[in-house]
This record gives sequence, structure tokens and C-alpha cells, in this order.
Amino acid sequence: MDPQTLFYIIIAIIIIDFIIDKILETLNAKHFDDPIPKELENVYDKKEYEKSQLYKKERYRFGILTSTFSVLLTLGFIVFDGFAWVDEIARNFTDNDILVALIFFGIIMIGSDILTTPFSWYSTFVIEEKYGFNKTTKKTFFLDKIKGWLMMAILGGGILALIVWFYQFAGNDFWWYAWILVAVFSVFLNMFYAKLIVPLFNKQSPLEEGSLRTKIETYAESVGFTLDNIFIIDGSKRSTKANAYFSGFGKEKRITLFDTLVKDLEEEEIVAVLAHEVGHYKKNHIIVNLAASILTTGFTLWLLSLFVGSPALSQALGVEEPSFHIGLIAFGILYSPVSEITGLIMNYLSRKFEYQADNYAKETYAASPLISSLKKLSKNSLSNLTPHKAYVFMHFSHPTLLQRFRNLKRNL
Ligand SMILES: [Zn+2]
Repeated sequence: MDPQTLFYIIIAIIIIDFIIDKILETLNAKHFDDPIPKELENVYDKKEYEKSQLYKKERYRFGILTSTFSVLLTLGFIVFDGFAWVDEIARNFTDNDILVALIFFGIIMIGSDILTTPFSWYSTFVIEEKYGFNKTTKKTFFLDKIKGWLMMAILGGGILALIVWFYQFAGNDFWWYAWILVAVFSVFLNMFYAKLIVPLFNKQSPLEEGSLRTKIETYAESVGFTLDNIFIIDGSKRSTKANAYFSGFGKEKRITLFDTLVKDLEEEEIVAVLAHEVGHYKKNHIIVNLAASILTTGFTLWLLSLFVGSPALSQALGVEEPSFHIGLIAFGILYSPVSEITGLIMNYLSRKFEYQADNYAKETYAASPLISSLKKLSKNSLSNLTPHKAYVFMHFSHPTLLQRFRNLKRNL
């Protein structure tokens, strides 16, 4: 295919993707004012409901603004040969291909991060602040940025350098090596994420002895689940929004509860949330997700290996000599419709898993504390109780509150 056609396809993909997203968001926003389903009427009182309406609308408008900015920036960058320009800057420093790729992506990442920082600043310190969610200090905000960059430089840079090196000695067969590297890395990260990465950003402490711990242990024992690692994390350092998650497997498995969750929920409700998390583990969701993501990575890398060396890919972005990093950028954009589809499948799967984990909690513990915890969590994060079907289908990794409520109430 000639570079000119490829160039137009790249531009078309970016624009079409943007338009589809905007249509979905607008559809979703049209239903912001729908009457709340009967079963969920007790989630908000009148005042809280009005507040949640304002919050959704403000988030929606802000989303339009940021995505429009970023799509215009990307299009401008492509049309005015921005990638060729950054490639040239990188080549002024060195002619080692690995270093060129590192400098190239370093400039692109840090550049785009700096350009979008005002938006994340506004989101945190204006919008979240206004609705009482924000707990992040300015110091934390900047420290997070710097730590994020360092982590990206070390982990992302390390992986990129290795992949370019594989490409240098193995040619198109590089994808095998890259796949093994990424697979080993994801398993490792999944195992040790809580031990190695989380401490850079948060404090975690084991859940203290007391009635909550006893209740959790009693439950865990009743389902034959050895759980030595229950941690409380200081989520309140950044936001009042609450969460809980499961990570690792084997000896490294642990459940992390946000301190905000412990504060907002009754002990029975916390055990119910935990039973849901145990359900994810018992039903092998952690392993299946990891396996699915490793398979997708393999497929993507294989596809990349077919195209990355093609001069047309680089030339479509205005660079004469084909190089791995330019090919990677062009491929990344051309691949995005495929990744939309794999993302859709993953979301679908994830929603199935959520039902299974809810059912597990219902069968092994109880449905009503899980229902009341889900309602409280929705209320405290001012969630949208009436999302549009198409939007849920495309973007939701969890079923809606109404769907989960009805599922939990079934056969009760
Ligand atoms: Zn879940």
C-alpha cells in the first residue's frame, strides 16, 4: 500500500474513533435525567441526587473538552510531520537505534504528559474538589507525576530497549522473544505489584486484630480460603472514593481494602465485598484475565512483526527510512480498531465475571450486605444510575448497579 493512502487511513481511524466515542457519550448524557429505577430510589435523597446530576454533567462537558484537545493535538502532530521532527531530534543525539527509540518515546511521552497536565490538574483540584472528593495535595500531585515518569522510564524504557534489541538480532522473529518477555513481566508484576509498586505511591498496613478481622477470618475459613494478607491502603491520601481489590496468586495473594471503604461501610458489608473478591479468585478470574491478556499480547506482537519493517508505515508518518519506533507508532494507530474490539470482548467477559463474583458472595455469605454496600459506594461516588445501554456495552467493565441489584435479588 502506498504511504499516502496509509496516511489517510490513519487520519480516518483517529477521526472515526473520536466520533463514535462522542456519539456514545452524548447518548449516555441524554439519559442523565431519566427517572431513577424504583429499586434504586433509596440510593440518593433529593439533594444528593441533584448534586450527582451536576457532577455527571460537569464530568461530561470536561470529557468532551479533553478528548477534543487530545484528538486535535494528535491530528496536528501527524499532519505537520511531528513524529518525523521528534525522530530527527533523537537522531541528533546518537545513531544507536535503541537509544534513538528511547529518546523518541521519552520526548513523546513526557511532551504529551506535560500538555495534558493542566487538564488533570483541573480535574483534581477544581472538579473533584468542588464535589468534595479530592484529598490530593499539590505536593502529592507532583510527586505522583515524577514517580510515574521514573517508573515509566525504568520499566517501559527497559522493555522497549529489549524489544528493539530483539528486533535487531532476530528481525521479524523478534515477536517471539518480545512475547516471552512481556508475558514473564506481566506474571511477575501481577505477583509482586502490591509489594514493589504500590509502596511507591501508598502506605499499606495489615488489618489490625479486632472484630472486623475476626469476621473476615471466620468467613475465609468457612469457604476454605487461606488469607494471611489483608491490607488497608491509605486511599484517603488522594480521594474520598472507596475501593477494594485482589492481587497476586499462590502465596502472594492478598486483598487490599481502601481505608475509605472501611470508613464508609459496616463490617458485614465489608465482609460481603471481600466475599465478592474471594469469588474472583475461586472462579479463576485472575488467571483467566492474565491468560487472556498474554494471548492478546502475543497476537498483537505477531501482527506488529508483519508490518513494522514496511517502509510505507514510516513514510505515512513522513519518515523516509523505516525504523522500529516509527513503525510501532503507525501500527499502534492502525491497530486501534482491533484493540477496540478486543477491549469490547474483555469488558463483556469482565461483566460476566462480576456477576459470578456477586453470586459467589451471595451463596457463601449473603446478598443483602453486598447490595447495601454497592448502593453506598454508588452514592458516595455520585455514580450515574441511568447509563445508556450502548455506553454500558462499550465501556463498562462492571454491570450497572441496577443489573447487579436485580441479579443479587433473584431467587432470594
Ligand atoms: Zn469484582
